[in-house]
Amino acid sequence: VIAGERHTTTLDADVCVVGGGVAGAAAALAARASGKDVVLVSRAPGATALWSGTLDVACSPDPAGRMSTTDAARSIARDFPHHPYAKLGVDALAEAIDAFDPTRFGMEGPGLDSRPLVVATELGALKPAPFAARAIAQGDLRDGGTVAVAGLAGYPRFDARACAGSLSAFGRNLGLSFTARAIDVALPSRSGRDPSSAEISRSLDGGEAMLERFASAIRASASAEGASRVLLPPVLADDRAARVASLADLPCGELCADSASLFGLRLWERIRDVLTANGVRTVAGAASGFAHDGGFVRALRLGTEGRVSANAFVLATGKFIGGGVRRDDRLRETLFDLPIFWHDTVVAYVDVLKLSAPQPWNEQRLFACGVQADARLRPLRGDRRPAFENLFAAGSVLSGYDADAEGSGFGVAILTGHSAGRFAAGGAP
Ligand SMILES: Cc1cc2nc3c(=O)[nH]c(=O)nc-3n(C[C@H](O)[C@H](O)[C@H](O)COP(=O)(O)OP(=O)(O)OC[C@H]3O[C@@H](n4cnc5c(N)ncnc54)[C@H](O)[C@@H]3O)c2cc1C
Repeated sequence: VIAGERHTTTLDADVCVVGGGVAGAAAALAARASGKDVVLVSRAPGATALWSGTLDVACSPDPAGRMSTTDAARSIARDFPHHPYAKLGVDALAEAIDAFDPTRFGMEGPGLDSRPLVVATELGALKPAPFAARAIAQGDLRDGGTVAVAGLAGYPRFDARACAGSLSAFGRNLGLSFTARAIDVALPSRSGRDPSSAEISRSLDGGEAMLERFASAIRASASAEGASRVLLPPVLADDRAARVASLADLPCGELCADSASLFGLRLWERIRDVLTANGVRTVAGAASGFAHDGGFVRALRLGTEGRVSANAFVLATGKFIGGGVRRDDRLRETLFDLPIFWHDTVVAYVDVLKLSAPQPWNEQRLFACGVQADARLRPLRGDRRPAFENLFAAGSVLSGYDADAEGSGFGVAILTGHSAGRFAAGGAP
């Protein structure tokens, strides 16, 4: 359902969340856990559906993962006073992630306080993560040994030799004790010329016999190299990875995706399932306007004629990918027309070229722009006062952090989503 389309749904709720990414999901689940009746309105997959597969909280200064995720988050909170970790506190982050419970979204990992997983990406980089999609967590490289990186015959999009070479070099530099070697594995079925990961995934959907053939090809190539672990490109992204490992009788994990991935699409579906199982009513549609009086938002318009009335609202509409922030004549928040800030400065009319640096490795202020919120996550107007008493913001629509530079995407989305859901439910974060 798109804005401008006829939509006759009329709903009443205690809390209405706009946006169905990870921030909106965390908000809806927190408000539900406080006993509230919750409606979540979501237009389309956003950045969450592009997920590479790890729950990023804080890019550690030590990529070999010898620093706990909590300590890495504390160092962000210390260095950046505008950051949500500084405003809401790192203890609140741990509580929010506990309440979100990444395992019900198909993730696995040691959590924030232990040594994180060290996982590999398709391009041969290493990254520490407190949780990752189960298939990725199974490829954890903390233990060392010989790791076989599997190139799949008929899948030219993944270069196993380049990946293995880069992993070995990174691992050596970081003092990790694994060695990576490329192997070639035949796929048990054909899937056309230059297939996508989704097409490969579908071609491996032929049941147990097909997985057995795949597993035995992996075992044969891996044992020729004396490998104790196998890393596959992300072409399964689900529980079949564990099944292949058990059939091959070898630990097998998948690499973290470096572009739009099956992990994101599977997570997107799983979020819907978890919301429904927890009694959140979800509406597929675009919030296209709002009604307010006396400093309170009273209702959202859905399409042309639909309406959701609620006591409190959470804005979790994402940034440029989700559609919560857009640039047309100026940089603006799209639903409530809230001003866009970079730190304490309103940047609505600043040329976006001035907010971005030509070198990708330099600071990109544009990515840290968004709505600014007070300590209770209420978005501010240009005069720095809350725009509405009962509107709370969460996730990448917020300013004050750069998920890409800090490796804090899901960490901030879950912390601010959970806190906004609690505030909207009338409680403490
Ligand atoms: C390619 C890529 C890979 C990434 N990989 C990782 C990773 O591995 N780990 C990690 O931690 N982070 C990762 N990130 C960052 C992470 O995806 C984001 O930080 C996070 O998903 C932001 O979540 P969100 O809920 O704020 O926004 P989004 O996921 O963008 O959700 C916003 C939602 O709001 C909806 N919406 C917008 N406007 C309206 C409206 N008017 N009415 C109704 N609905 C509306 C959108 O349709 C969308 O559903 C990645 C980002 C990208 C781009």
